[in-house]
Amino acid sequence: MSNDQPYLKRLEEQACELLLRSPRLSVSQVLELLDISDSEFRQMLKGNTEIATLLEQRKDGCLATTPVESKECPVCHDWFVPYASARYCSDACAQTAHLRTSPDAARRLRAKYRAHQTTKARAKSE
Ligand SMILES: [Zn+2]
Repeated sequence: MSNDQPYLKRLEEQACELLLRSPRLSVSQVLELLDISDSEFRQMLKGNTEIATLLEQRKDGCLATTPVESKECPVCHDWFVPYASARYCSDACAQTAHLRTSPDAARRLRAKYRAHQTTKARAKSE
């Protein structure tokens, strides 16, 4: 087994998740598109609650009533299409929000920055 196997498996699962969100495709069409066998899919279901939830939603017929809506990022005010329950458009914005709401995190970051500057200054003078 090669090293990028888990990575490829994750990609395949993400693709599967995305396609299963589409009410226009049947489960068997999705599996066919991605060339996933029934046993591989069962294996995927065991480890991926997101896919299991999607299947439940499909069964209940409530998939179409949960359309993907764009959201405004509370940090940069850009509109974006959230993946799952993401609140921010990017990791950078999530981090910024975390710094805003957590004085401790901001202090740690400043301390880290100062330490970095000091190391740089010391390296220059040596
Ligand atoms: Zn943002």
